[in-house]
Amino acid sequence: MENKQELQSLLDRTAAVCRSLTGSGRQATYIPELATVDPSLFALSAVTLDGAVLSSGDIGARFSMQSMSKVMSLSFALERLGYDEVFSHVGMEPCSEPFNSIMKLEMTSDTPLNPFINSGSIIMAGLLAERLGSGVIDEMLDFASRMTGNKSGLAVNERVYRSESSTADRNRALAYFMHSSGALSFEVEKSLDLYFRLCSIEVGTDDLAVMGATLANAGKNPLTKETIVSVDTSYTVIGIMSVCGLYDESGWFAVKAGVPAKSGVSGGIVCAVPGRMGLAVFSPPLGKGGNSVAGVEAVSRLSKELKLRGI
Ligand code: GLU
Repeated sequence: MENKQELQSLLDRTAAVCRSLTGSGRQATYIPELATVDPSLFALSAVTLDGAVLSSGDIGARFSMQSMSKVMSLSFALERLGYDEVFSHVGMEPCSEPFNSIMKLEMTSDTPLNPFINSGSIIMAGLLAERLGSGVIDEMLDFASRMTGNKSGLAVNERVYRSESSTADRNRALAYFMHSSGALSFEVEKSLDLYFRLCSIEVGTDDLAVMGATLANAGKNPLTKETIVSVDTSYTVIGIMSVCGLYDESGWFAVKAGVPAKSGVSGGIVCAVPGRMGLAVFSPPLGKGGNSVAGVEAVSRLSKELKLRGI
């Protein structure tokens, strides 16, 4: 088990160094609400498998999950619908194009490469909305709250949701294209609506680090001791995080940091290190590949110092 004092001091040192990188990169502006976030915010959390939550930096910072919600959605879909049904709609291969690329879909006219790119996640949302009906968002918020151990209950940030939904030409284009090719066989606007709501769920790094730790702990939340997902689901999700988690920079990140992770355009990164811990970092400015510049650096440093590398 990790030494908590040493871990806290490592988080503090890492936060102090990486905070200076918040001037590098640019925060996402294509969702207008994301452009209003203070770019100098920096927060870092680690959750050990014996249930210690350690944080550093702007620990009160709250932000939308964006694509990090895809970790939760995939976990939920695998539990509710099963592996065979989920992977009859999406693949599990990395994508060499940006997360919202239409090109790959058009070139192959096939199912999306994985559930962590927008096309794959919109299909997951459509599938869940169709199977579970209008209560699906409440069920998923409850699942997300239990997975993150958030006692007050996670909720959708309505401002982010409206901002995202009213400026979503690209995601609409993806969804309607998939509908025309037959890859998305569910109602398009319902699929998109659930997708936008999931991306807009508000969290802190402590919530995300518990989510990562739950997967790292073979599906059992280390704080509440509740089994959230099966061992099989946890390893399926971690496997996909290992190869598809950082958009088309997943290979580079695997070499640089070597831990299963998922990023989001709000500037967060959540990591699940099997048998060791969950980690999460938040810093809005993104590099060319859409990943948090300071966040990638922080995870890489922690991975090296704690010898987390495992992929
Ligand atoms: N809601 C964002 C979008 O659909 C999520 C993208 C991301 O975080 O990668 O564009």
